Amino acid sequence: MSAQAVLPKGSPHPAEFKPKDNPAFILHDKLKTGYEEQPIPEVGPDEVLIEIKKTGICGSDVHFYNTGAMGLVKLQEPMCLGHESSGIIVQLAVNSVVGKGTIQLGDKVALEPGVTCRMCTDCRGGCYQICEHMVFAAYPPSRGGTLQRYYKLPADLVYKLPESVGLEYGAMMEPLSVAVHAIANKGQLRTGYNVIIFGAGPVGLLAMGVAKGLGANRIVAVDINKERLQFAKRYAATDIYIPIKQNEGESRPQYSLRAAQDLLLTLGIPTRGPGSIDLVMDATGAEVCIQMGLNAVRPGGTYVQTGFGPPDIQIPLFRVTTEEITIKGGWRYGNGDYPLAIDLVNRGLVNLEPLLTHTFKFKDALEAFEITKAGKDKNGKFVIKCVIDGPE
Ligand SMILES: [Zn+2]
Ligand SMILES: [Zn+2]
Repeated sequence: MSAQAVLPKGSPHPAEFKPKDNPAFILHDKLKTGYEEQPIPEVGPDEVLIEIKKTGICGSDVHFYNTGAMGLVKLQEPMCLGHESSGIIVQLAVNSVVGKGTIQLGDKVALEPGVTCRMCTDCRGGCYQICEHMVFAAYPPSRGGTLQRYYKLPADLVYKLPESVGLEYGAMMEPLSVAVHAIANKGQLRTGYNVIIFGAGPVGLLAMGVAKGLGANRIVAVDINKERLQFAKRYAATDIYIPIKQNEGESRPQYSLRAAQDLLLTLGIPTRGPGSIDLVMDATGAEVCIQMGLNAVRPGGTYVQTGFGPPDIQIPLFRVTTEEITIKGGWRYGNGDYPLAIDLVNRGLVNLEPLLTHTFKFKDALEAFEITKAGKDKNGKFVIKCVIDGPE
């Protein structure tokens, strides 16, 4: 096949783009992966083609790999994995809106991997993350993830990375944007806020980083894993808390209330007024954490849910009503979240370096999934974020 035959239509500089092969890391069925050659995407009038350089592994990728599903979403056909990526622009389409100066060939960019319809009331209303026509990388029914050489996106969904931000950190803008969305956008965190974050996994840690970067006063990390909490303390948390044990015969709501009271008492946090908890974010999805969070937040405070757990859970609704707790869902990211994420890193307000614990070559992608699933590598080293290189 000649190079000319696979050139996307409408390329302004066909001579500059000499496509290589396009190997992809494919999930065939749970725990069954392999490499396959994919066609090179044809760039439409408002799109750009990116050569992927780095891809981070996400909890959702690991769920699909491990179980063939993520919550209610099931793998329907073989799917290329990966959605946390950065790369280099190798092609700009003719009408590309950002092609007129902002994004250039050769730019290093972070990818926002969800393509929306732009027409529905949610898109038009500024909440494109809940667009019902969303096509998201490595999320069925979409087929294509970013663990391949070439990936195309509408031109406004790539964000130029500043000189100081490396491509491996560019790949981490996706999970960081989830944290920015939850803390800054949904949580409306202000300087001096006291926050509790449930779950010291990648998203929880990033949320602590964002809270710190935006000037939070106290940042309480809650987890059942002591090692993760110690890491959180070194990273961004000001306080850590391991929930007390549930008593025999104690119901979950009773336990959660007691644990929330214990947390506040142990850490010397008042239930209301100065020093009380303004904002809670849950990155676990665990019923007891959700109940604890809703009991620990101050009257009039805000609670943001990003973690996934059982679909139906009990919450202290009486308290939500009578003490006017605001509950918000935080789903992926919306307008302004990627630019803020990049800016926080560029200005040194969020440090991604300690969170990037492992890097792998493209040919060793499976190992990245295995150690992320295990939480530890072969040598027993703690795994937070694995980043895989693009194909060589
Ligand atoms: Zn992700
Ligand atoms: Zn839409």
